[in-house]
Amino acid sequence: MNHGKNLITVLGATGSIGVSTLDVVARHPDLFGVFALTAHRQVDKLFEQCLAHRPAYAVLERSEDALSLQSRLDSAGCCTEVLIGSAALAEVASAPEVDMVMAAIVGAAGLVPTLAAARAGKRVLLANKEALVMSGALFMHEVAASGAVLLPIDSEHNAIFQALPAGFQRGLHDSGVTRILLTASGGPFRRMPLETLAEVTPEMACAHPNWVMGRKISVDSATMMNKGLEVIEAHWLFGLPANGIEVVIHPQSVIHSMVSYADGSVIAQLGNPDMRTPIAHAMAYPHRIDAGVRALDLFEIARLDFERPDHDRFPCLALAYRALEEGGVAPAVLNAANEVAVGSFLDGALRFDRIPAVIADTLDAITPRAADSLELVFEADRKAREVAGGLVRGLGA
Ligand code: NDP
Repeated sequence: MNHGKNLITVLGATGSIGVSTLDVVARHPDLFGVFALTAHRQVDKLFEQCLAHRPAYAVLERSEDALSLQSRLDSAGCCTEVLIGSAALAEVASAPEVDMVMAAIVGAAGLVPTLAAARAGKRVLLANKEALVMSGALFMHEVAASGAVLLPIDSEHNAIFQALPAGFQRGLHDSGVTRILLTASGGPFRRMPLETLAEVTPEMACAHPNWVMGRKISVDSATMMNKGLEVIEAHWLFGLPANGIEVVIHPQSVIHSMVSYADGSVIAQLGNPDMRTPIAHAMAYPHRIDAGVRALDLFEIARLDFERPDHDRFPCLALAYRALEEGGVAPAVLNAANEVAVGSFLDGALRFDRIPAVIADTLDAITPRAADSLELVFEADRKAREVAGGLVRGLGA
């Protein structure tokens, strides 16, 4: 089946990025076919996606969910085979039939299957920034060793990729690139009085002014940890030092990022804030295809604003730069502490304005060491979750 098409595995198919990816797939049945779809808990949504896209495999975390999905698919005459657990995620990400893998599982859970896709030499469409933050050096090493093609999905990194010179090799040398300007909307609390941040609820934090996203990344955008993670991601993707990556607040989210050159040129990528643009760009690269995105109307936008980030309001940004400077396992510690703090906030167990303190204290508590192996990265991740969990219990809601 699907001869002549590019077969895709969508890790995290039921999430915001997964749904946008399947929308692009559905617009181009002549170009793309679906090999596998994976989800964590959303069985009903995965069932509907299997009926619509007829993948060879679907993957769920729990066996009771997988059995239930399998029997519903069998009854509906859909011959998708349902697999179970994290080993199956890595299998469908690295199977020989697969051409490209959309890595869109949220958080550290995405690391192993994304790495499996990289090791297998796939075209890796990287949305899961946490994988690169946790294990940047190891990840980039696997990509280079296998010849995998790594294409960024994060709108900022995709914009930078588009604005860099053709054939750009990681690093600044000889390319004429002086720095990259990573734009950030500033999230929903850019103007909110600092003393009222303590009262922010999960619903308020998840109501992003420009983008519709999953809950974790929405909170990350509200604290600006998302931008911090993106600084680390940019460092690994493009080989730039921390001082070559500058964050610029741009509330309209129309310029998705820029590259500054030695001759004074600044090249920007613009578009309506819709993740289908970077997704379609990476899926069709180096060609361009319709993504279903409304054309940009500059007269409607009328103005573009820029501000410096406010570090008192957004301490998470400086924490991310600190982790990048420290290197080794520090970014993995930062990421794990952030996942614990954000999860606790979403569960009502931690105040919004205490998220940065949990991350800072976790970084202080764990002695930095090299991230020479995946085992060391996971050990740091586990320790950081323990420390951050203790800090959350101490601080309370
Ligand atoms: P969502 O929360 O919307 O979706 C996450 C997906 O991952 C779902 O399919 C979910 O399954 C699955 N998942 C969650 N936990 C696990 C687990 N432990 N094991 C296996 N699968 C799991 O997230 P987003 O789509 O918003 O984001 C996905 C990634 O893309 C994140 O890393 C984010 O930072 C990045 N990203 C997102 C952008 C956006 O606009 N949304 C922009 C740029 C990057 P289920 O639905 O069953 O729970």
